[in-house]
Amino acid sequence: MLDPTSSEFREAAHRAVDWIADYFEKIDRFPVLSRVHPGDVQKQFADAPTETGKTYEALFSEFEQKILPGITHWNHPSFFGYFSITGSQAGVLAELLIAAINANGMLWKTSPALTELETLALGWLRDALGLPSNLFGIINDTASINVFLALAAAREALGLDVRGQGLAGRDLPALKIYCSEHAHSSVEKAALALGFGQSGVVKISGDDEFRMRPDLLEHAIARDRAEGVLPCAVVATAGTTSTGAVDPVRAVGAIAAREGCWFHVDAAYAGSATVCPEYRFLWDGIEAADSIVVNPHKWFFTPIDCSVLYTRRPEVLRETFSLVPEYLKTTDTAEINYMDYGIQLGRRFRALKLWMVMEHYGLERLRNVIRGHVGFAERLADELHKREDVEVISQSFSVVVFRLRDGDEATAALLERMNASGKLFVSHTKLHGQYGIRVAIGNGATEWRHVAEILAF
Ligand code: PLP
Repeated sequence: MLDPTSSEFREAAHRAVDWIADYFEKIDRFPVLSRVHPGDVQKQFADAPTETGKTYEALFSEFEQKILPGITHWNHPSFFGYFSITGSQAGVLAELLIAAINANGMLWKTSPALTELETLALGWLRDALGLPSNLFGIINDTASINVFLALAAAREALGLDVRGQGLAGRDLPALKIYCSEHAHSSVEKAALALGFGQSGVVKISGDDEFRMRPDLLEHAIARDRAEGVLPCAVVATAGTTSTGAVDPVRAVGAIAAREGCWFHVDAAYAGSATVCPEYRFLWDGIEAADSIVVNPHKWFFTPIDCSVLYTRRPEVLRETFSLVPEYLKTTDTAEINYMDYGIQLGRRFRALKLWMVMEHYGLERLRNVIRGHVGFAERLADELHKREDVEVISQSFSVVVFRLRDGDEATAALLERMNASGKLFVSHTKLHGQYGIRVAIGNGATEWRHVAEILAF
C-alpha cells in the first residue's frame, strides 16, 4: 500500500492546518514579492528524488526553508499587483476536501454531486450578480480558456462547419474578431489557437476613459465587410485589465447583434462587483451577450483556479465540443455531462470551493468586503489627487493608476522602490504611451492601513 496507515498524515495535516492559520494571521512578516534570484530555489535540491522517501516533518522543513522564500505572497493584504486575489479560509478548507475526495466530474454519473453542485452554485452566482436567468454556466480553470471556448462556439455559430471540415484548404472568407485595444491578451491568444491568426483580431481604439468606441467598431466592421471579411465575434470588456474601464456593453452588443456576430463579455475581474446592486451598471445591455466570463478566483475570494463561463446558447457550445467515445457513453442523457461543453474531459470539483465561499461568508459579507475595496481605491485616488507631484490617470472599481508628473523614468523608479521595500507590491501599465503605477485592491484581508502605505513613498 502507498499509505498503510493514516496516522502520519493525521499528525502532519494538523500541523499543516496550524501552519496555514498562522500564515493567515502573520502574513505581514513576509516580504510581499519574493527576493530570490533566478535558479535560487532549484539549486537547493538534489538531482533526483529520494529512493526511500522522507518524513512529512523533513519535507515540511524543506518547504519552509527552501520553497517559501521563493513565494510571492499573493495572499498578502498588501499585494496590489495584477489583480490581487484571495485564498480565503473557506476556499482553502474546500480545496483540502476537494483533494481528499479526488473525484472527477467528467460525467454526471462519475460523481453526481460534482455536476449538481456546479449547476447549483453557478445558478446562485448568476442570480447574486443580477445576470439574466436564462444563462447556463460552466466552470473552467481560467478566463483565457473560457474565451477560447466562447470564440470556438462563435466560429461554429457561423455555420461554416469548421468542426467537420476545418479551416485550411477551403474557399472561406477571412474571419475576424473585434475587441478594444484594452482587451486582455487572452482574446488574441484564443484567436491564435483557433486559426483566426493575429491578423484576425481587430483592435478598436478606446476613448479618453479607455472604453471601446462603438463608432469605430461600426466603421471597422463596415470596412472589413467591404473587403469580403466575415465578422465572427465581438468582445467587450467590462472591467479592463489596465484600468477597470467598462466598454459600452449595450451599444457594442447592439452592433454585434446587427452584424450577426457572437457577443462575448469579459467581466473576469469586475463581474464580481455586481454582487453589489450599485455596480450592476456594468451589465447594462448584457441580455445581448452570447457568453460572459466572471472569475471568482479574481475578486470573489475563491482560491485559484475558478473561472465561470456563462452562455445563453449552451447548445452551440455543445455542438462545438461534444464528442463521446464508446467508453464514455451513458444512459443519463437527461443530466448535464460537463465534458460536452469544452475541451477537457476530467474536471476538478471547483464548485465546492465556490459553494463554500458563498455559503460560509454569505452574500452580505462578500458585498461589504467588495464595497470596502472600492472605498479604499476611491480614498487612495482622493489622497493622490491632493499631491502636486502626482497625476491620477484613472480610478475604476478597485483599480487606481497614477504617475509622477516628473515622467516615466521617475514613475518606474518609484515603483521599483515600493516593490523593493517588501512592504507592498504594485504592478504597472502603459496608457496613452505613458508609464503608470497600477494599484488593484482585492484581497479579503486588506485594510486601509495597507493601502495607505502607498502614500508613504
Ligand atoms: N480578462 C481580464 C479582463 C483579465 O484582467 C484577465 C487577467 O488578468 C484575464 C481575462 C485572464 O484571466 P485568467 O488568468 O483567468 O486567464
